[in-house]
Amino acid sequence: MRVQQDFPIPGVLFRDLTPVLADAAALRAVTRALAHAHGPVDVVAGLESRGFLLAAAAAAVLGTGVLAVRKPGKLPGDVLSESFELEYGTGTFQVHPSDVPDGARVLVLDDVLATGGSATAACRLVERAGGTVAGVAVAIELVDLGGRAALGPVPLVALRRW
Ligand code: AMP
Repeated sequence: MRVQQDFPIPGVLFRDLTPVLADAAALRAVTRALAHAHGPVDVVAGLESRGFLLAAAAAAVLGTGVLAVRKPGKLPGDVLSESFELEYGTGTFQVHPSDVPDGARVLVLDDVLATGGSATAACRLVERAGGTVAGVAVAIELVDLGGRAALGPVPLVALRRW
């Protein structure tokens, strides 16, 4: 993993997972650990955009489909929306509720958990769409930013705590 000072804006210490994704053995290990973080699931949700890579890989391991948790304006048709605050700025996520079967157990995946705003919004969208959040799993948890507390009772697995 690469750590980049002052990216994408001054004051942020950016954790770049792309070197891990580019390494076959590391990608396999991270994918398997995330995929099995919360037991059997029916769907893997990935947060745009680095979470997409992990979610698609984990879903292929588990034999499930992927729920794309997307930034606004990317999904056609009926969507659910949730807005949230980020370490650097604000954001909104959207999903197609029709992509979540009623009662499906959904694993929510992303690369980094910082304040927890993104993952919390994704969990709300899953629940509003009729699914049940099995848990959130991330490669890296930035412990000082309080994301674990922000998630409340939602179980969190982080492969590395920083
Ligand atoms: P948050 O909603 O604050 O938990 O932020 C998590 C999201 O923002 C994830 O999708 C990360 O990819 C990205 N992110 C936030 N802070 C960082 C950071 N310091 N390094 C890398 N990615 C970050």
